Amino acid sequence: MLLRTAPMAFVLLTTTFAAGIDSYNVTIDLVRCTNDRITVEVELPSTLSCTECRYVLPRSVPGTYSLDRYGRFVVDARAYDASGKILAVRRDDDDIVVKGRPVRIVYAVNDTWDDPAGSEVFNPTGSNIQCDTNVVLNFHAFVGYIEGAKNFPYNISVRKPRGFYGATSLERRSSTDTSDVFHARTYMELVDNPAMYCSPDTTSFDQNGVRVTVAVYSHNKRMRSDSVAAVLKPTLAAVARMLGTMPVDRYTFLFYFAGMQQRDITRGLSFGALEHAHSSLYFLPEGSGGENMAHEMIASTAAHEFLHILVPLNLHSEHIADFDFRSPQMSRHLWLYEGCTEYFQLLARAQDTLLEPEAFLRELLSNLRMMQMFYRTRRVSLVELSQRVLEPEYQKLYPVIYMQGPVVAFCLDVTIRQLTGGRMDLLGVIRELMRKYGPNRPFRDEALFDEFAHLVHPALREFFRRYVEGTELPPIAECLQALGYRYHDSTQVETYQFELSALSLRRSSEEPIVVTRDTTNPFGFRNGDTLVRINGILVTPENKYELMSKYIWAPQSPDTVRVLVRRSDGLVELRAVPTKGYRTARYTFSAEPSPSPAVLEFRKQFFRKSS
Ligand SMILES: [Zn+2]
Repeated sequence: MLLRTAPMAFVLLTTTFAAGIDSYNVTIDLVRCTNDRITVEVELPSTLSCTECRYVLPRSVPGTYSLDRYGRFVVDARAYDASGKILAVRRDDDDIVVKGRPVRIVYAVNDTWDDPAGSEVFNPTGSNIQCDTNVVLNFHAFVGYIEGAKNFPYNISVRKPRGFYGATSLERRSSTDTSDVFHARTYMELVDNPAMYCSPDTTSFDQNGVRVTVAVYSHNKRMRSDSVAAVLKPTLAAVARMLGTMPVDRYTFLFYFAGMQQRDITRGLSFGALEHAHSSLYFLPEGSGGENMAHEMIASTAAHEFLHILVPLNLHSEHIADFDFRSPQMSRHLWLYEGCTEYFQLLARAQDTLLEPEAFLRELLSNLRMMQMFYRTRRVSLVELSQRVLEPEYQKLYPVIYMQGPVVAFCLDVTIRQLTGGRMDLLGVIRELMRKYGPNRPFRDEALFDEFAHLVHPALREFFRRYVEGTELPPIAECLQALGYRYHDSTQVETYQFELSALSLRRSSEEPIVVTRDTTNPFGFRNGDTLVRINGILVTPENKYELMSKYIWAPQSPDTVRVLVRRSDGLVELRAVPTKGYRTARYTFSAEPSPSPAVLEFRKQFFRKSS
């Protein structure tokens, strides 16, 4: 659904208010909490007067690109006037509509995480209410505003169980063992600063002038804030190196690590995060894929969310600047907000030592492979996908923006460097636009492509016409060639495999126990074997899946694989040699055998390598 921006005067029909120090005073009670439900009490600003007041609960929030209708989780609404008289309330479009002059609205809130009705709400944007262990307060899921009056300040009092700490980047006015008081200047600011309550586990450090706080909740206590901070430090250093100066002076990382057995909330294994101006909130698995995989996921996700400080947080169109929580308008520039951000997180790590240049290119191209799974019938342009992303048919295609988007950004970066003889790059153009516009000065949604062309070169307009407004795949072969690599759309590659039917590991156990019914497997695995070593490497609960993938499910070489297992009758060494085969690989590349000095120089500049 695409709606054009309605004139603001339109919304103010029944509401008049005077701006001032008057505010919303909200109490959120995490102590009186039953069945994952808490009570919220909202005192309205005293200068606000309306005869039929619509208390809006957002249908969507910035950065999510989906319709989630948070009002669905608000129940038992009551409203009172100045004399304490109860007023008539009706629900309309998930909002609360009050007849009369309310001064106070009270209601209960259910969480989105384990509510069957909330299953389509992405956890980093939703709410978790487990008052004994963890509460995730994305404030838009708990608090609304009277229509036309979202620019009043908010004072938020949270009553909390003893021993709980509320981590947030929201301004903290006071704090005791049993309560916190926070302040936000507007509704937008409140929504942009989520909080997570649980037993404290936080680590703080300074990185390139940014005061960083890491708060962690880990369901089985597998992850700790100090080890997460150790992953974030070099990641942020790489980001700082790419950016030159950091765009913020403080930042909070809020991590919820889910256990794999928490099926009610991990659902379709949809993990991820949501960005904010001074924080980001993560919902990630505690990890059974090994420490490396967990660290890689933390590093790449955190770099992505942090880099959102560029776009859309400091450069965006009018649809985001004055976000319409009731009828959200979708910008055509998801390629910029999500595509460029994902590209920059890869580039930052490739320009540092965290990602080898060829691994960077492999990551980019593997996105194209995944993209094909979504484009079974027809390919849509990134502009069309952006503008219609709230429609169910397009919502299904949404992940494509993280696959095609970064490749488009990569080709755009290469093209900008080529058109300007290396004088400009994509980051430089975005910086230039941030100077011209900025967080409080949105650009016109339809004018951005022309702005880019104006800053860089008239020929750049053609790039957008073909690859962003049009449905052509970005010119990946030319872009790889510019860096001294040869692109192969489709090629035959050698593969190795073991003839194993249904060989897995027991899910109910931490121990690496083999599950198989196949008695003729080439290793001679028996059901119930406990893995001890694979090719000499000790198998642990943390690395078991990683080792199984690398050596048994998808062996990387034709070499014999040795597995030491424990059985009732002792230790046994099993061996097998993988069989060789061929498969068609799409979107691959190889190094140009003798690239010209100009190409090598371009590559050096691109990856900012000194030699
Ligand atoms: Zn993002």
